[in-house]
Amino acid sequence: MGTAQRFDLPGTDAFTVPYWQAAAEGRLLLRRCRAPGCGAAHHYPREFCPRCWSEDVEWVTASGEATLYTWSVVHRNDLPPFGERVPYVAAVVELAEGPRMMTEITGCPEEALRIGMPLRVAFRDHSPTNGADSRKGGAEGAGAGCAGGAGGAEIRAVPVFRPARSADGPG
Ligand SMILES: [Zn+2]
Repeated sequence: MGTAQRFDLPGTDAFTVPYWQAAAEGRLLLRRCRAPGCGAAHHYPREFCPRCWSEDVEWVTASGEATLYTWSVVHRNDLPPFGERVPYVAAVVELAEGPRMMTEITGCPEEALRIGMPLRVAFRDHSPTNGADSRKGGAEGAGAGCAGGAGGAEIRAVPVFRPARSADGPG
């Protein structure tokens, strides 16, 4: 493998292309079961319903609202690019639709975090043209290197969560 590996972006495949395309447009997608009597939403995206095993599952746009379920402040992570980003808040949030989702909390000081606090989805820009997240000296790989792989989606934005109040508040 010639390209530097990074660990903050998940692997993608053809199945999750719609999910990452929607993220790039600022929408969070969930999977919802269409089987009679079920209707469960789930995350991460699977090709079948984890509750009833039906394959009659569709993409739906989530409200983007969630509450904080649990979190951990990460002060050390040697896997690139996390080392440049610590400390950060790794969290599990409970989406308004029900599923829990592993994510990151941004825009909130550690001491203000509370279980059950209202959150709203935001999207961290990972587009190759945005230098903010590119790795030092990695310019030549910027076009080809972002995560993903053969047949997968190009990840241009990843969902994170921030306190709902500051997102709605003045300024
Ligand atoms: Zn189901």
